[in-house]
Amino acid sequence: MKRWVYLFSEGSKEQRGLLGGKGANLAEMTKLGLPVPTGFTVTTEACLDYLAHHNQLNAEMKQQVAQAVATLAEKTGKTFGDHKNPLLVSVRSGSKFSMPGMMDTVLNLGLNDETVEVLAKNSQNPRFAYDCYRRLLQMFGDVVLGIDNSKFEARITALKKAAGLKYDNELTADHWKRIVSEYKELYVKTIHREFPQDPIDQLYLAIEAVFGSWNNQRAKTYRRIHNISDDLGTAVNIQEMVFGNFGETSGTGVVFTRNPSTGEAGLFGEYLINAQGEDVVAGVRTPKPIKVLAEDLPDQYAQLKAICEKLERHYRDMQDIEFTIERGKLFILQTRNGKRTAKATLKILLDLYSEQIIDEEELVNRIEAKDLEASLHPSFDEKILAKRVPFLTGLAASPGAAVGAAYFSAEAATEAKARGEHVILVREETSPEDIEGIAVSEAVVTSRGGMTSHAAVVARGMGICSVVGCEALTVVNEEKIGTVGKEKIEEGTILSVDGSTGKIYFGEIPLEEVTSTVALDELHAIWDRHSQIKVRANAETPKDIAMGMTLGATGIGLARTEHMFFEKTRLLQFRQLILADTLAERLQVLKELKKVQKQDFKFMYQAAAGKATTVRLLDPPLHEFLPKNDSECREVAKELGKTFNEVKRKTDNLAETNPMLGFRGLRLGVAYPEIYQMQAEAIVEAAVEVAQAENYVITPEIMIPFTIDANEFARVRGAVEEAVQTYLTKNELILNYQIGTMIEIPRACFVAGEIAQHADFFSFGTNDLTQMVLGLSRDDSPRIVNQYLDAGIFADDPFQVIDEAGVGAMMKIAIKNGRKVNPALKIGVCGEAAAHPKSIAFLSQLDINYISCSPFRIPQAQMTLAKAALATSAK
Ligand code: PEP
Ligand code: MG
Repeated sequence: MKRWVYLFSEGSKEQRGLLGGKGANLAEMTKLGLPVPTGFTVTTEACLDYLAHHNQLNAEMKQQVAQAVATLAEKTGKTFGDHKNPLLVSVRSGSKFSMPGMMDTVLNLGLNDETVEVLAKNSQNPRFAYDCYRRLLQMFGDVVLGIDNSKFEARITALKKAAGLKYDNELTADHWKRIVSEYKELYVKTIHREFPQDPIDQLYLAIEAVFGSWNNQRAKTYRRIHNISDDLGTAVNIQEMVFGNFGETSGTGVVFTRNPSTGEAGLFGEYLINAQGEDVVAGVRTPKPIKVLAEDLPDQYAQLKAICEKLERHYRDMQDIEFTIERGKLFILQTRNGKRTAKATLKILLDLYSEQIIDEEELVNRIEAKDLEASLHPSFDEKILAKRVPFLTGLAASPGAAVGAAYFSAEAATEAKARGEHVILVREETSPEDIEGIAVSEAVVTSRGGMTSHAAVVARGMGICSVVGCEALTVVNEEKIGTVGKEKIEEGTILSVDGSTGKIYFGEIPLEEVTSTVALDELHAIWDRHSQIKVRANAETPKDIAMGMTLGATGIGLARTEHMFFEKTRLLQFRQLILADTLAERLQVLKELKKVQKQDFKFMYQAAAGKATTVRLLDPPLHEFLPKNDSECREVAKELGKTFNEVKRKTDNLAETNPMLGFRGLRLGVAYPEIYQMQAEAIVEAAVEVAQAENYVITPEIMIPFTIDANEFARVRGAVEEAVQTYLTKNELILNYQIGTMIEIPRACFVAGEIAQHADFFSFGTNDLTQMVLGLSRDDSPRIVNQYLDAGIFADDPFQVIDEAGVGAMMKIAIKNGRKVNPALKIGVCGEAAAHPKSIAFLSQLDINYISCSPFRIPQAQMTLAKAALATSAK
């Protein structure tokens, strides 16, 4: 006989697939001896069977459920429908992966016209009993039988109005009795069916409803957004009810073992005294911060704190725990790994590590690329922000900063996004139906609800900026309007939302890129311990270099000096250089250029703060710098004091059919050694001056691009070294420097041994190497590569992921040849593909010293290298 049902005492946390996350954790907590209300789980396999067989529970399942109910009765001393001690249960969904609020829940199941009386008598609180019963009728009607919840709510609103009351808790037992009978009438009127009085019928129907809710629209949307398979199904957990709404020594709450927004250690959460189940997360009443529980119910707070610590140690992760206190007795209803922001993820993992709950290897392996990426959230420009006054403040639920147009419904938000607008979703509170609207928004703002409300939890999980519980805001959905005192937010009003402070501003505040995070420094120190291969930055402007350093670069691997000539006056000087007719003219321009280049290099060395810096000598594809047409020739002629014909003739002379394979790299150094000599002098002079001023040890790394041949390299190196030595000797200076080459031409790989006799280092330029090994032009390749990707000929774009079979094989040859001659040869990789995780999987197996990439890719690259190193050492 197939097993469809497991008691909590029979399962464990490893059975998430079968019992769902919630069921597996309830079983685990039961095993740990924690105060979990007794219960059992109907498996995900039962759900799949139910869905596959025309939405029918089979007889075997029903029989096993009935058997488990009997065991529950034995354990609790309560039975379904009993006139002395009736058993009441909750019925909750729980799939393998947490899908908060996406599927259905029914509470207080087991109540009927008779047991409600028993509950009233036993609790000596008829008001409580009838409130419970009406909740069951309401939830059951909504979830199981599809009666619109607003119909139920309308009855309560009408009654309050008639009685002149404002809040639900002012309603008396008689009021709730009246509501119960009105609800029962509503059943008959809307679905022509009575509320089922037999608890076991209630239970079968509720289980079916939860199974069915796996396929409701919002659950499907959630799975699509979060990449969760549709084939998993949900389990159903049936658990003895405990009541948080039993009076002043009862309550219910949600607690995170650490702050899910910031990662700060210490309990974080909310609770409500005298409330049931969903009241806290629904955001209907404003809950109290968890720390206040220490005053309201000190013993229970202390017990909760101890359990939180135990669960966190046991699961080795921050937990999100639901609890209920029934007349002074604490129960744990659920625990799961808490959702958190990316910033909090990093802090929590680092703290768990320093508290020795996880080891270094686990720390490295548990951080995901997306956590790092999202931890680099934008914020507002501080100077401008300081001058602005927020018109509204709420709870800072999910950090980051966002600017966009206000929309008041998920549909309007989705449509605006499709029109290309940036959207801020403004709601009274959000519900699972809003999920699509949240996903397309830059920020979510709500007027109600606390830090654990739906909007807060979902936005945080998705890494979307969010401010919730803005009490001064009134949202009128029908009129598409929000008011804050006299101020109005209308559809399309531009707002700036600061999810880190909870402040909201009218109009646009410019966003600033991330500059520094403490956690990153610590992480880099750890990653560094595991990976032999280091990460440098491809950067040449002081701003980019500084960003590279902030993000953990161990140095600059590639400073492209031709990028220093894109600015207008520089471009003109550069054009003057390449259009010069005589050596004398060229030397004149070079004298001017040396001044600016030297200043460039000084800025670079200062920004690099003493870290290794590889400066590449000019590698200009000439077509990027020549005048493009007659009118540009005319303009250049005017600016340089030449005739149009002179400029035109020279430009025509220099034009190439295939500039990417033309007069590039050290071809320029062979033809005009004085250009590279000028650059080398500027590099060395700048290094000497900055080293003296800042007390750094600087060993300039001068990189010659595009080498084909050892003789060619030796010749250019000779010219460069002559200039450097002349300067050093003349000034009686001693300076260590290195001269190396890019390896980016196939022939250079084969003759790498010969080149290595003259070179101090190699740096693979995989952009050009890929172009030449595959015979696909860098500039024209996308069309071809896309076609090849579509046709399945290529698995990846070789310009993004290093082509192991071709380019990779060449690199191996070059490394072997180079190292044979010069074992101390420093070897790096600086093409764009170097930082891709798939490339790193390959590069980490090679005998190289560093990879170099754009600043924002550095943390990910360093982490992937550390993971790869750990995986290798585990083999
Ligand atoms: C390369 O070719 O990989 C490289 C880094 O140089 P560039 O992109 O400047 O040609
Ligand atoms: Mg190149």
